[in-house]
Amino acid sequence: MATGLCYDRRMTSHRIIEGEHPEDPKRISVIYEKIVNCGLVNDPEFSGTSNPENPGLMVRIEAREATEREIGLIHSRDQFEFARELEDHDDEQLIMMTNEADSVYFNQHTFMCSKLSCGGAIETCLRVAQGHVKNAIAVVRPPGHHATPDCSMGFCIFNNVCVSAKTLQERMPDIKKILILDWDIHHGNGTQDAFYNDPSVLYISLHRFERGTFYPNDPRGDSTFCGSGQGTGFNVNIPWTEGGKLDGDYIYAFQKLVMPIALEYNPDFVIVSAGFDAAAGDELGECYITPAGFAHMTYMLMSLAKGKMAVCLEGGYNLSSISDSALAVIKVLMGQAPEKILDPVASPAAANVVQQCIDIQMRYWRWASERGNGLSLDVRAWQEKILWEKYKMSSAPVMHPSGLVFDNALLMSYKATELVEIAVLEFNNIFLAAIRPVVSN
Ligand SMILES: [Zn+2]
Repeated sequence: MATGLCYDRRMTSHRIIEGEHPEDPKRISVIYEKIVNCGLVNDPEFSGTSNPENPGLMVRIEAREATEREIGLIHSRDQFEFARELEDHDDEQLIMMTNEADSVYFNQHTFMCSKLSCGGAIETCLRVAQGHVKNAIAVVRPPGHHATPDCSMGFCIFNNVCVSAKTLQERMPDIKKILILDWDIHHGNGTQDAFYNDPSVLYISLHRFERGTFYPNDPRGDSTFCGSGQGTGFNVNIPWTEGGKLDGDYIYAFQKLVMPIALEYNPDFVIVSAGFDAAAGDELGECYITPAGFAHMTYMLMSLAKGKMAVCLEGGYNLSSISDSALAVIKVLMGQAPEKILDPVASPAAANVVQQCIDIQMRYWRWASERGNGLSLDVRAWQEKILWEKYKMSSAPVMHPSGLVFDNALLMSYKATELVEIAVLEFNNIFLAAIRPVVSN
């Protein structure tokens, strides 16, 4: 079976009325052009070269406008009406509304493009689920993962991936559990919101967080936000503490955290929120993921759900980076092995974030409980509470010279921190903390 491709040039008509914007219509046309020029689809109109003998290796999936009912599976009536009414405004009003919005712009075509983007993602997922294609990519815009059930923000109008996930569950009885893996450099706050109480969708996001100072500046992108109610444990945030991430950091996170959790969850379908703004060359993301890095992540995810996977474009603003990255992902979807990674080793800072996430996830996943710091967080929380009440002792982190930080490694009184110096020694991979007084009285 072939790999599917959804692209519709009408989606380029959503554009900023005045000036320039990183969420540029060319983002999807350059990816499409790359695919055509590599001979993966045949489009005489676009490439100017007609070859009727070669129908292309990818199967075209037609985009269509998502219906009000489909969008209503995730979004409020107010939000749908807000988007619909954009068609009634003139340019001057749309510019004013753009200035008042949270990082999102509007024009006369925004509503139509948003419905096409959403409907394109839905059709892409459905074609994979129905077995028409083995897997597929939706090259669509505007993106979706910041759009919450009630608010369009962060370049996003409707949450394409969330609406697709809900539609799949509604229309395909065999698809009960869906993994949404979000490797866009920004936290998909909208996706997290939509399924925060829902165990039938596991959301895993790797993103720059920096204590909530990186867009969308939402403290809920932290690793401690794991879902609520029935959905507790089904929201996994991997919050990087700075930019500059390399292939090795992402591969490490996938091998140590993402894939073990994903395998234990055992989804029936995988949707990738594929922003390419962690790609090398992206000025917003400031990271260095190579096309080979994205290819390896795709390759690993294809082992899930009998390969039933739809990749859906989110962010990514360097035109050559996103087209090279998307092409590398497509080649893996089509069956090629990923290229070699040049720098496969994770940095201590990234390894530390991953370890902290494992320590949190051990509450919810059997695999993680075997690899945590050995002491259940619940037990540690109880210890802290009792020792604080009785002896005014609180926890302190221990930093190893390698850069690894172990939270809650020591419990001490606040007075002790002024009086002692702590040395950490490593012996056969066991870290030992030694405390000595520096003031004697
Ligand atoms: Zn992004």
